[in-house]
Amino acid sequence: RYCMNQSLEGSGMTSRRTRLRMLERLRTQGIRNEALLEVMLNTPRHLFVETGFAERAYEDTALPIGQGQTISQPYAVARMTDLLLEHGKPENVLEVGTGCGYQTAVLASLVKKVNTVERILPLQQRAKDLLWSLKFRNIRFKHCDGGWGWPEYGPYDGILVSAAPTEIPDALLKQLAKGGVMIIPVGIGREQTLQRIVHESDGFTVENIESATFVPLLARLVQASGQRVTVLRLAPRCRTVPD
Ligand code: SAH
Repeated sequence: RYCMNQSLEGSGMTSRRTRLRMLERLRTQGIRNEALLEVMLNTPRHLFVETGFAERAYEDTALPIGQGQTISQPYAVARMTDLLLEHGKPENVLEVGTGCGYQTAVLASLVKKVNTVERILPLQQRAKDLLWSLKFRNIRFKHCDGGWGWPEYGPYDGILVSAAPTEIPDALLKQLAKGGVMIIPVGIGREQTLQRIVHESDGFTVENIESATFVPLLARLVQASGQRVTVLRLAPRCRTVPD
């Protein structure tokens, strides 16, 4: 299980002082949203990483969270959230790729409702338990292929994708409300571009933000740890043309 023996407040390398250093770094990296910085100061990132990595939780690096996945580096979480919030204030957000739930926690502290999907069930369950124990009550979880979104609770005025498809899945564009914004890394292998897509009245605008490195968006579901992966379906592909 998670390092729940680690305290919420943290000490030493997980203390407030270490967290303040992370904040300073984020500021020099161009993050200006004070509400977001405050949330990142108060979110116990050391509880989200694998036991043994807590001491490194506030470094600007990706760290293992089990199942061959990584927690996104603080800068990536900050930048994506910043871009999402810059565009009005989304209330009903879809997150694709829950992972350890750290980005979910940051989002849920800033918006009304977060709907989050993950393809690896054990990761999702762990994130769900941890976020519940941290008193979050505005998050819905689903084990599914995020390439299809989560139509039931859409349309969303914000969509944040933490894994990179080679093209933007059509289903996600369909679930983006008019006026809504999607932040998504797109590309093959390590060659990805972080994009911001806005659903305007006459179609979608796509803005290239910067280069990014995320794990690929895979259309395979994992039910349990060590279990063979089953290919259920291929991720939908689409062109980014006006609707
Ligand atoms: N924000 C997360 C990022 C984890 S990495 C964190 O900080 O922990 C990206 C996550 O996306 C991984 O957990 C991976 O399993 C998940 N993922 C990849 N493809 C997916 C898909 N098609 N549907 C849902 N989740 C997916």
